[in-house]
Amino acid sequence: MTQKRVRVFSGARPTGKQHLGNYLGAILNYVEMQKDFDCIYSIVDIHALTTVETTLQLKENCLDMALDWLAAGVDPEQSIVFIQSHVPQVMELHTLLSMVVPMGKLTDLPTFKEKVRMHPQNVNYGLLGYPVLMSADILLYKAELVPVGIDQAPHLEFTREVVRSFNYQYNTQVLLEPQMKNTPVMKVLGTDGVNKMSKSLNNEIEIAADAPTTKKLVMSMVTDTNRKLRSDPGNPDICNVFSFHKMFSSQEEIGMIDVECRRAGIGCVDCKKTLATNINNAMAPFRERRHEWMKKPKQVWEILYNGADRARTIADVTMAEVRDAIGLPRYR
Ligand code: SF4
Repeated sequence: MTQKRVRVFSGARPTGKQHLGNYLGAILNYVEMQKDFDCIYSIVDIHALTTVETTLQLKENCLDMALDWLAAGVDPEQSIVFIQSHVPQVMELHTLLSMVVPMGKLTDLPTFKEKVRMHPQNVNYGLLGYPVLMSADILLYKAELVPVGIDQAPHLEFTREVVRSFNYQYNTQVLLEPQMKNTPVMKVLGTDGVNKMSKSLNNEIEIAADAPTTKKLVMSMVTDTNRKLRSDPGNPDICNVFSFHKMFSSQEEIGMIDVECRRAGIGCVDCKKTLATNINNAMAPFRERRHEWMKKPKQVWEILYNGADRARTIADVTMAEVRDAIGLPRYR
């Protein structure tokens, strides 16, 4: 008899083609988790609507994200992969959960204040209700674990509080308090060497980029800024290029650069050329698979539709229980 596996939920906003930060920080973890858990991965397009700029090319962005996930090894046979808005029950649960969430709780959240600061021209209800919708994403599928880094732990704690309030208010146990799956957060800096890799900061290296583009971006990376001349010794400990070597180069190369950089035995140009080659070699199989998937977009959409069918089956059960728990009149 096969043992029931723990259910994991994770969602990501459709920001289009993914970059190395997304790949190393999240996508590889998605692939890895499939070995031990029943995974539900959602492309959360409704969340993208809260900010105006991400609504552009939303459909293509969803497809691009799915292509990246599939090419990286997310297996749609094993995991449920779907687009959030294809399961409209999440909006219904969002509304019902909102009845047990005090306004002050939402306006006090640092993430809301930050978003208001970033988008002062577009402070919409969606921004305020964002954490409630996020909770609905998790609770609709009765996820037991949610992979979050330590900095996102408060978001999950919010969801847990929502569960307690809801279950208390309606004297029920239908909603399940999800646990945090502590995931080590790999902070990947962008080509500027200062900020987290991000499309909005234009410091990203897309995982689907071709080899020459990748090389060009790697060659533009900021290094140890104290090293002005080739003859100056460098410090790999403060160089972002070296951080990437640790992720993409062999132990032998890492050791060599660590020593040679400090005594000016290697120049930054050569160091970056080696890195570009290693990134391109590492990403070549991914790019090949992505290219194959790109030739069959209908099949990718079909995967997303099938994923939504499977997700809706779970959602229907949860919503029937939630409506009953609240005492809403049943409908035919
Ligand atoms: Fe950074 Fe490499 Fe230059 Fe050293 S040699 S400063 S590790 S780019």
